[in-house]
Amino acid sequence: MIRIGHGYDAHRFASGRRLILGGAEIPHTRGLLGHSDADVLAHALADALLGAAALGDIGQHFPDSDERYKNADSLELLRHIASLLRDNGCTLGNADCTIIAQEPRLAPYITAMRENLAAALGADIDRVSVKATTEEGMGFTGRGEGVAAHAVVLIQR
Ligand SMILES: [Zn+2]
Repeated sequence: MIRIGHGYDAHRFASGRRLILGGAEIPHTRGLLGHSDADVLAHALADALLGAAALGDIGQHFPDSDERYKNADSLELLRHIASLLRDNGCTLGNADCTIIAQEPRLAPYITAMRENLAAALGADIDRVSVKATTEEGMGFTGRGEGVAAHAVVLIQR
């Protein structure tokens, strides 16, 4: 059985935070605010995987209120979700992710993000796509207030 999943996440920019996207640290004047490392890309992908398996969402598995997940490495959460899916008989077909950010320029970091995410999922890199776009100055990403990410995945069970 082939199943599809979709994930969406958004985090606001804040000063004094590191900018982590797809497990890659990206030099920038601001980072993203969140209980964990606020890796919006990893979170969207995690929700897509959980959605495809109908196993809830990331907030259920890793609640904000739990001190264990303060500043958590989101790749670690992704590894946990990947093993949960394997335990449920699911294998990844492919994942396609889009980051929406006005700034900074993300092209130089795309390969590193794909490598990190694929490694966390125990998948070959050609199964994990990451793209980046802007919203041409429109909306909250366009105003530089934060970063959003979408992910879709296909899994087989
Ligand atoms: Zn998030």
